[in-house]
Amino acid sequence: MVEAGTARTIKEWISSSSRVAVLTHTNPDGDAIGSSLALALALSQQGIDAQVIIPDGLPDFLRWLPGIERSTTFAYKKEKAVEIIEGADLIFCLDFNDPKRLGGVEEYLAKSTARKVLIDHHQDPVQFTDIAISDTWRGSVGEMIYLFLKEVFKHEILNKEIATCLYVAIMTDTGNFSYASSYPEIFHVVGDLMKYDLEKDKIYSSVYDAFSEDRMRLQGYCMQEKMVILPQYHTAYISLTDEELTRFNHRKGDTEGFVNIPFSVKGIRFTALFVEKKDRIKVSFRSRGSFPVNRIAAENYNGGGHINAAGGDSFDSMELTLSKFESLLPEYSKWLKDA
Ligand code: 5GP
Ligand code: MN
Repeated sequence: MVEAGTARTIKEWISSSSRVAVLTHTNPDGDAIGSSLALALALSQQGIDAQVIIPDGLPDFLRWLPGIERSTTFAYKKEKAVEIIEGADLIFCLDFNDPKRLGGVEEYLAKSTARKVLIDHHQDPVQFTDIAISDTWRGSVGEMIYLFLKEVFKHEILNKEIATCLYVAIMTDTGNFSYASSYPEIFHVVGDLMKYDLEKDKIYSSVYDAFSEDRMRLQGYCMQEKMVILPQYHTAYISLTDEELTRFNHRKGDTEGFVNIPFSVKGIRFTALFVEKKDRIKVSFRSRGSFPVNRIAAENYNGGGHINAAGGDSFDSMELTLSKFESLLPEYSKWLKDA
């Protein structure tokens, strides 16, 4: 994953840095937070002041992670976040391929004269760092950070806390090993993490059995009232308006995972979730098989992502967004049939 020469260069940069900032993407998921905290914890063990910057809200199901006190949320503590970025002589960018995914932080990244390293697994990374380590076929950046730490620090550097963060990253980005994980090395990595007294089942429960009653009721409402199934296109979608979210006392992260649920319906290969935000409708896509949802996201929603998981935005009303979405399906139906 990391060439020896690249690893040496980054190691030198780390050794000559006293302050390191780790940046990740907006609406952060388990991989974004887990991989960033793991890297920050490992660097701080080396005597380096390493801090994580999260552009916006941290979901509750990730708040318990070891090292979370090393994170600062730009949207809530802007001054502190900017100070960390301005004071850093080395900046790592994890789990995003384009500075546009930084939700306002990109302005400060661009101004910084620090050395910059990208570690990411999204397709087609934009060039904005001095070094980019990009493995688009790997299930998670967590796995990449594991390999990175092994290559850069030849000595033992993992511990239970770091292993826990890495495992959360790998587990969440592969849907608990249900996709993006059909290759041997990922299980070697997890096998090694297990050696650090990893509480695998407890971690699963902390992440996946942590929903509020409101969230569960919202899920029930989505399934009963809002899920639209279009069997002829092997497609299902769910939409949620701001009014509906408010009715269910929505909290950040509550709609996480909803987009995957319709796959349980036989024959569904393409799913979409439309969630109304203040200024736009956030669109999430998932697919099974070869249907490239990053393409539909890029071509119609100014977005992107992976082949089987992508997203973007719509600036139309919900009604128009949904009718436009349905009208796109015939165009993509050949792909969906063969997927
Ligand atoms: P989610 O549906 O969980 O928000 O996002 C799934 C994946 O789609 C993310 O990991 C990211 O790769 C991609 N993605 C989501 N929203 C956007 C977006 O607005 N722009 C781009 N370029 N990618 C996105
Ligand atoms: Mn990821």
